[in-house]
Amino acid sequence: MRMELPEKGANFLEQIVIDDLKSGRVNTIATRFPPEPNGYLHIGHAKSICLNFGLTEKIGGTCNLRFDDTNPEKEEPEYEKAIIRDVEWLGFKWHRLCYASDYFQQFYKCALELIRAGKAYVDLQSADQIRKTRGTLTEPGTESPYRNRSVEENLALFEKMKNGEFEEGECVLRAKIDIAHPNLNMRDPVMYRILKKPHYHAGASWCIYPLYDFAHGYEDAIEGITHSICTLEFENHRPLYDWFLDNVSIPNRPHQYEFARLNLSYTVMSKRFLLELINRGIVSDWDDPRMPTISGVRRRGYTPSSIRCFCNEIGVSRVESLVDIEFLHHVIREELNQTAPRVMVVLRPLKVVIDNYPEGKVEELTAENNPEDPGYGTRTMLFSRNLYIEEDDFMENPPKKFFRLAPGQEVRLKHAYIITCQEVVKDSSGKIIELHCTYDPTSRSGSDTSERKVKGTLHWVAEETGVRATIRLYGHLFTLKDLSLMERGKSYVDYLNPDSLITLTESLAEPALAQAKPLDRFQFLRQGYFCADLDHTREKPLFNRIVSLKDTWAKIQKQDG
Ligand code: ATP
Ligand code: MG
Repeated sequence: MRMELPEKGANFLEQIVIDDLKSGRVNTIATRFPPEPNGYLHIGHAKSICLNFGLTEKIGGTCNLRFDDTNPEKEEPEYEKAIIRDVEWLGFKWHRLCYASDYFQQFYKCALELIRAGKAYVDLQSADQIRKTRGTLTEPGTESPYRNRSVEENLALFEKMKNGEFEEGECVLRAKIDIAHPNLNMRDPVMYRILKKPHYHAGASWCIYPLYDFAHGYEDAIEGITHSICTLEFENHRPLYDWFLDNVSIPNRPHQYEFARLNLSYTVMSKRFLLELINRGIVSDWDDPRMPTISGVRRRGYTPSSIRCFCNEIGVSRVESLVDIEFLHHVIREELNQTAPRVMVVLRPLKVVIDNYPEGKVEELTAENNPEDPGYGTRTMLFSRNLYIEEDDFMENPPKKFFRLAPGQEVRLKHAYIITCQEVVKDSSGKIIELHCTYDPTSRSGSDTSERKVKGTLHWVAEETGVRATIRLYGHLFTLKDLSLMERGKSYVDYLNPDSLITLTESLAEPALAQAKPLDRFQFLRQGYFCADLDHTREKPLFNRIVSLKDTWAKIQKQDG
C-alpha cells in the first residue's frame, strides 16, 4: 500500500523517490542499509539507517538490512550481532535480513557471463604491477599483456582460480573496459581475487572473493532494490556500478544516488580508525562512552529517539559539511529536560559541619520538585549536622557576584536551610578540608519564616546517608574541531584530548540513587545529565555524564541569529 506522498519539506532523496513514483518509473520503492560487518556502527551509519529506513517508513516500500560481507579478512560474527542490535535499538524493522555472501554463486555466474562476452579476463600480473600500470589522473594506464587472451583461455583460468589451483596473489579477474578511461575506476578494475580463507557466513566453499565495486550492484539487483543510496565518495564509482549492471542480464535495474556523509566536530567517523583507538588502548572498547559509535552513545546515555531526532534535524544534502557535536548534545539535553528525574549529587565533596545543629539528629525534609520537572515528585531528604557541598561552591576570597558560599556569606541548601559560613579549616599544606557553618532553624524550605533572601542555592548530600559513587566526566575525544584540517605529517593521535575522561571516585549521591539500574538517566542538579553505566551496581554505583547543563549550542544559535 502506498502512503500519501509528503511533498512539503521533503529532502532531495525523498523528492527523487516521489518523482519516480509519480512518473511511474517505479511502482514501489525498495532501499537497503548495507554495512560491512567489519566493525561497530557509528553515528554516520545512523544517518544512513534513518535515511534508508525512514524513506520507506514515510513513503511506503521496503528496506532490507544487508551485510555487505564479501571480504572474509575483517568480517566477524561479533560485528554482525552488534549491527543487528544497533539497528533494532534505533527502532527500525527490516523487510529482509540479507547477506551478500549468500549471493556468491550468483556473482560467479555474472563473472562467467562477462568472460563469455569478452568483457573480463584473468590477469597474471601481481597486484603491484596492476597498480603501477593503472596510470594517473593525467596519464592513461597500460594494457596488461594478458588482456587479449581468448574467452576459452579465460574460462579455463577462472575455473582454476575457483578450484584453488592458484595461490593468493598469483592472478585476479579483471573487467575489460578501458585502460585509458578518464575515470580511474573504469580502468579494467579487479573483480575477483584469491583468498584462501574461510568466510564467517559462507563457510569454506570459496577461495575467490568478489570486490565491492563488482558485487555491490548485483546485490541490489538480486534484492530488487530500486534506490541504491550511498555516500558521495561512491559517486565516481557509479559509472562502474552501471557498467556491471548493463553488461549482465539481471532481474532488476537499481539506480544509485549519493548524499553527503555525516562528519561530526571533535571526532572521527571511520571504523578503521575507531578500531585503532581500541587497539592502542586509548578507549576501552567499541562502546566506550566517548566513542561516536551507536553502542558508545547508548552507553553514554543517549536514547534512540534523540539519535533519530538528531539525524532528521541535520537533514540530507549533497554538500559536505561538519556538524557541530554541540548540536548532538543539545538534542539529548532537550529530551532529558522533559524526562530525567532531578537528584542531588556532589561530584567533588567539601565537608560542612553545621555547628549549631544537634549531633546525632537526623531530620526528614520533603523535597518537592518544580511541578514542571519530571521525576520523583516529592521525596524525602535526610538532613544532619555533617554534610557535603561542591568544592567549587566555596571561595575563601570571592570576587563580587559570587553568590555561593564564602566566609560570612549566606546560601540556601536546596530543599533545606539557609547556612552561614563561620570558619574555614585547613590542613598543614593550606588545603581547605572543612567548613564550619551555622544554620537558621526558621529558614526551612517550605516553611521559611526567617524573611531572609539569599541569592545562592547549593546542592548538598548528608554524610550519614550519602552514597559513595564513581562518576565519569567526558570531554571531546580530540582537541581539533575539524579533523580534516590536520596538519601535514600528523595523525589523529597527535590531537587526542588528554582530558577526554575524568574519573571522580569520591562523589556522594543522595540515597535515592542507590535504586538506579544500568542506563537509568537523571539530572544531577546544577551539574548535568547522567546515566547509570552498564557496570553500575548497588554496591559500586557508577554514572556517566551524558552532557553538562550548559547549552553551548543554544548560545551559538543566538549569536548567529
Ligand atoms: P567507515 O568509513 O566508517 O568504515 P564504511 O562506509 O566503510 O564506513 P559501511 O559498512 O560500508 O562502512 O557503510 C554502510 C553504509 O553506511 C554505507 O552505505 C555508507 O555509505 C554509510 N555511511 C558510512 N559512513 C557514513 C557517514 N559518516 N555518514 C553517512 N553515511 C555513512
Ligand atoms: Mg567501507
